[in-house]
Amino acid sequence: MSHIFHRHCHSELPYAVSGEGAYIIDQQGKRYLDGCGGAAVSCLGHDHPKVIAAVKQQMDAIPFAHSAFFTSEPAERLADALVAEAPENLQHVYFVSGGSEAVEAALKMARQYFTEKGETERQYFIARRQSYHGNTLGALAVGGNQWRRQQFDPLLSPVQHIAPCYTYRDQRDNETEFEYGQRVAGELEEALLETGPEKVLAFVVEPVVGATAGAVPAVPGYLQRVREICDQYDILLIFDEVMCGMGRTGHVFACNEDGVAPDLLTIAKGLGAGYQPIGATLVSDDIYQTIAAGSGFFQHGHTYMAHPSACAAALAVQSVIKEEQLLDNVKVMSDYLFSGMRERFAEHAYIGDIRGRGLFMGIELVADRETKQPFAAETALNIKVKQAAFERGLMCYPMAGTIDGRNGHHVLIAPPFILQQAQADELMDKFTLALDDTFKVIGS
Ligand code: PLP
Repeated sequence: MSHIFHRHCHSELPYAVSGEGAYIIDQQGKRYLDGCGGAAVSCLGHDHPKVIAAVKQQMDAIPFAHSAFFTSEPAERLADALVAEAPENLQHVYFVSGGSEAVEAALKMARQYFTEKGETERQYFIARRQSYHGNTLGALAVGGNQWRRQQFDPLLSPVQHIAPCYTYRDQRDNETEFEYGQRVAGELEEALLETGPEKVLAFVVEPVVGATAGAVPAVPGYLQRVREICDQYDILLIFDEVMCGMGRTGHVFACNEDGVAPDLLTIAKGLGAGYQPIGATLVSDDIYQTIAAGSGFFQHGHTYMAHPSACAAALAVQSVIKEEQLLDNVKVMSDYLFSGMRERFAEHAYIGDIRGRGLFMGIELVADRETKQPFAAETALNIKVKQAAFERGLMCYPMAGTIDGRNGHHVLIAPPFILQQAQADELMDKFTLALDDTFKVIGS
């Protein structure tokens, strides 16, 4: 019996024993094509020699030096590299060990920024339904996924949740995409006026919603309007790019494609690509200078922040992506996968929507394409698709509760940036078979 408290108490997990490019191999020698990067993490596959060498080299030099005493070359160089690609106003990087920590840092930084300015009455965040920002209490509070929040609700600070930008379900017949985006962005203004803008710290948003809604991008004009409202009412804008950032959409930062800059931006997952745990919060110069000129330090911190070996891994990951021009491959493989999936499933009775950007694709499953009626939650379709795909040797990331935290199902596809065409075909073939297996069991 395992002494690990696994994610699920009754699951029997195979051992991951080795990696080979886009594949993970278990103790029986079975190969799994990683079609989802675990959870949109492993963008360089599982054995990139340059990343492994960089980590080894750093371990040989010095594995860890506490950030209260030292900085390190990989951390400094990584911060330079990130700032060079980020929206212009984001000039400073706060390194942590994962996505939830990055979000917590962003939330607390927003509060400290206003406190330093004497605006101590500001205490509320506004975020969106069906978002996910992490599982620590602050991040969970801003997250809008009911299922994840439910039992912890009494522990969560109050956050107002407005509509997501979810075209497939919520765009009305009589409005264009643009009009729809403006309408839902308008909910931010309504929420602000309801709470009183002088009490609000920030609006938190995933530019492309990841785990909870399945790669849902904002429509053109939405993020611009959100930015305008934040400026008008003098609140901060936080982009959570933990899942959609770091090249996943074909751009280093997802918001680069929209041409909108936040005041704080969180990243993790693809930053270190799973080679080491690492996340970061990018911070505007205004916020940094306000804190620097005030108390002079951010009242926060974790033992492993700016961990040298983790920074060495992330620096190597980001260098490889650049040197090997992998974002070009993301775009090529994205076109191939999107057109391949759309062609294959054009007539599929249970595929309602295929959406996303880059190598970040959400496939929404429905019981009826015409009415968009979801499958009953009791079908546990997400679990069945995951199992069927895994048996076929494919990792994909299905999730339930797409619509409101309980109803709806989608599958997230997020393969590594090194994906080759033959592997994209294998992914689509195995996924098609996994769906066939699943719907046979469900008895449709
Ligand atoms: N924010 C977003 C958008 C995420 O997708 C996730 C994880 O899926 C997190 C935050 C939390 O990151 P972590 O699991 O590394 O704590």
